[in-house]
Amino acid sequence: KEVYQLIAAGEVVERPSSVVKEMIENSVDAGAKNITVEIKNGGSTYIRITDDGCGIARSEVKKVFISHATSKIKASDDLDKIGTLGFRGEAMASISAVAKVQLLTRTPDEEIGTRYEIAGGQELDFSDAGCPVGTTIVVADIFFNTPARMKFLKKDVTEANAVAGVVERIAVSHPEISFRFIRDGKQTLITSGNGDLKSTIYSVFGREFANSLIPVDYEINNMRVSGFVTKPSMSRKSRGMQFFFINSRLVKSQTAMAALEQAYRNSIMVGRFPGCVLNIECNSSFVDVNVHPAKIEVRFANEKPVFELVYYGVKNAIEMLDT
Ligand code: ADP
Ligand code: MG
Repeated sequence: KEVYQLIAAGEVVERPSSVVKEMIENSVDAGAKNITVEIKNGGSTYIRITDDGCGIARSEVKKVFISHATSKIKASDDLDKIGTLGFRGEAMASISAVAKVQLLTRTPDEEIGTRYEIAGGQELDFSDAGCPVGTTIVVADIFFNTPARMKFLKKDVTEANAVAGVVERIAVSHPEISFRFIRDGKQTLITSGNGDLKSTIYSVFGREFANSLIPVDYEINNMRVSGFVTKPSMSRKSRGMQFFFINSRLVKSQTAMAALEQAYRNSIMVGRFPGCVLNIECNSSFVDVNVHPAKIEVRFANEKPVFELVYYGVKNAIEMLDT
């Protein structure tokens, strides 16, 4: 691999949790109903993601690992209305540049699946394999060929917790998908995939948080906000339990956060924060997700209607509680 490729890879592959995020998003984009994430040693030595999505046709398998190869964008104007989580075609190429990757996959049309192995960008195997429809990808020994980068990995527990955080957030943003998370052989999370947000929140964040929630469902300016916020009495010391999604994509939005907190003004103490799981549905041309490599930060064509949406949606929900 050339140096510039390894550098580019670093923008996507920072640590095990970033690898897991990219791979789960691919499974979601593939239409999976069940996704299992397994890690060992914080994910630094072993990550396995299994899905029952559409699979990858034999003729397409090698393209997965070619930079800027994406099956999700056909024309440049698709960039204005991105419906899938991925679109850069960068993640798998980057991951295979700095780790050992094994892939098993089969599409519904194929009788026999494909096994592919690539390590540090070096192709090692491409053969027939018996496997169910869907995709399993194992990523082993992240940064095995870039020891300087490996040194930046934190303790296994820290990395594992970061991976758990990613799985949790994606699981609550997709209640219609069943997620399992296995950490060093122990299953630590399972969601039903029955589509119910409240019960998914319960499975992921526990009873205390789930029981502190009041529902939000509000439409204005051609947008909708729905989900849950915590009762003012259940405010927390940090913003760690504020989750915003735009069209089911986890995002950071300063505007949404400010609107949320403004709606609670007067009802919670200074230095305490509401929690929320809120999904904003809007026309995807209204959102620019193309700002950050990790695609977390979003900007809106116009922030004001978003502020209004969240502010009034949350304020109404809190007021309903008082009456
Ligand atoms: P992007 O998601 O931006 O298209 P990636 O590098 O993440 O780029 O993935 C490259 C391509 O590999 C995807 O466009 C998709 O066609 C294929 N792919 C990756 N993971 C899966 C999966 N789990 N199921 C089906 N296809 C996949
Ligand atoms: Mg992707």
